[in-house]
Amino acid sequence: MAKDELMNYEKALEQFEVVIGLEVHVELNTNTKMFCGCRNEFGDEPNTNVCPICIGLPGSLPAVNKRAVESSIKIGLALGCEIAPTGRFARKNYFYPDLAKNFQTSQYDEPIAFEGALDVEVPSGKTFTVHIERAHMEEDAGKLTHVGGSTGRIQGAEYSLVDYNRAGVPLVEIVTKPVYGAGAEAPELAAAYVRSIREIVKGLGVSDAKMERGNVRCDANVSLRPHGQEKLGTRTETKNVNSLRSIERAVRYEIQRQAALLAKGTAIIQETRHWHEDKGATSSGRPKSDADDYRYFPEPDLVPVQPSKDWIEELRAGLPEKPSERRKRVQAEWGFADLEFRDVVNAGLMDQIEETVSAGAKPQAARKWWTGELARIANSQDKDVIDLEISGAYVAELAGLVDAGKINDRLAREVLTYVLDGEGSPSEVVAKRGLEVVSDDGALIAAIEAALAKQPDVLDAIREGRMQAAGAVIGAVMQAMKGSADAGRVRELLIEMANK
Ligand SMILES: [Zn+2]
Repeated sequence: MAKDELMNYEKALEQFEVVIGLEVHVELNTNTKMFCGCRNEFGDEPNTNVCPICIGLPGSLPAVNKRAVESSIKIGLALGCEIAPTGRFARKNYFYPDLAKNFQTSQYDEPIAFEGALDVEVPSGKTFTVHIERAHMEEDAGKLTHVGGSTGRIQGAEYSLVDYNRAGVPLVEIVTKPVYGAGAEAPELAAAYVRSIREIVKGLGVSDAKMERGNVRCDANVSLRPHGQEKLGTRTETKNVNSLRSIERAVRYEIQRQAALLAKGTAIIQETRHWHEDKGATSSGRPKSDADDYRYFPEPDLVPVQPSKDWIEELRAGLPEKPSERRKRVQAEWGFADLEFRDVVNAGLMDQIEETVSAGAKPQAARKWWTGELARIANSQDKDVIDLEISGAYVAELAGLVDAGKINDRLAREVLTYVLDGEGSPSEVVAKRGLEVVSDDGALIAAIEAALAKQPDVLDAIREGRMQAAGAVIGAVMQAMKGSADAGRVRELLIEMANK
């Protein structure tokens, strides 16, 4: 992969205005696929959830999944969109091995939802309104696995396997209008927008919304134009970026890459690009014109979708509280200061903290674990904290063990690493690995006496009221017992010994 020249980020923003556009695909969690009765289930044995319809055998006839339409309308309503009274499906014709039908059934010029808007808050606290152009229904393609190469990509692979279980899984594609004015915060806005979409579809219960499983995928369009120029610059589309961190990094990278080219007078090629998490860079995909000739035509085997007004109003009435309302409510319930709460929102941790609190943890303890140690671990693994394999119930259990004095903070952090490694619940790890705090007086007194033998003046110092002298002994005991001593109890015992 050729190394791109990048312009310094601040310098790029001085010279150019950034315009982004985001296309988010949301996989719906319906029981069955979009146009057939095959199971919609992640992780099943390859090619077991397939039938003549989803692999496009001649003569098979599709039928629209009503639940998928319902979920799509809910998404449209939650994004403040108009819902189309009638909408046809179309065939988008192209060949690719993961698309056995040779066309994707999608909505083309008649999307189910259009003209919406979403207010998105970025980490600095600023709010941007992102205008939604459309949200339309379509079906997913199968999944290709490229075998034999070092990267898992098609380049260098010896052969490829195809799994059609995902072919025909219902998708909603949400397309924004061009987003102007975010400036240096465009990368953060892109990530925050996808986080909001994820929050919404999860809140609606229409998608599992796990990015690492591809339930939510983002294509990020980026273009630059000199400040003051009206005409939009040529854009690139970075495809299928699958974590919030990557979205932010990919947008930032494209800004710097395009700026360097434009400054040299080199034209930007309108193309799709791929994001490489390992290299932190995008690479060229395929050229993309504005009007790729997919020979769209109305799908003759499906009747138009015509949701009744009553049905739409019924769905509107059943929408959960808006994300902004929910934020106000939980912040008040948890008693978080504005800054504390913003950290939680920006890390996308509201669901996790809610789950942890409802499993019995105090809100501040839940916040501390999620935004502290767990965020640190995720960061060291280049992950989003929400993608860590740990439930709120486990975090609550861990906090409970600390509160009960069974483990101290240091042991709790150790327990956490084993829990994340899949060794079981915090209590199971503590029992299995013998990580409980030692509060057995006999063992503690022996360790204190050993420490005092080396620092005989400490007892006198404590008697004279110089309590800071106790620290050296407590430290020595903690070290001797590898951090598993109950420091509070060591202190008490030491004072008792001094006052004897
Ligand atoms: Zn099927």
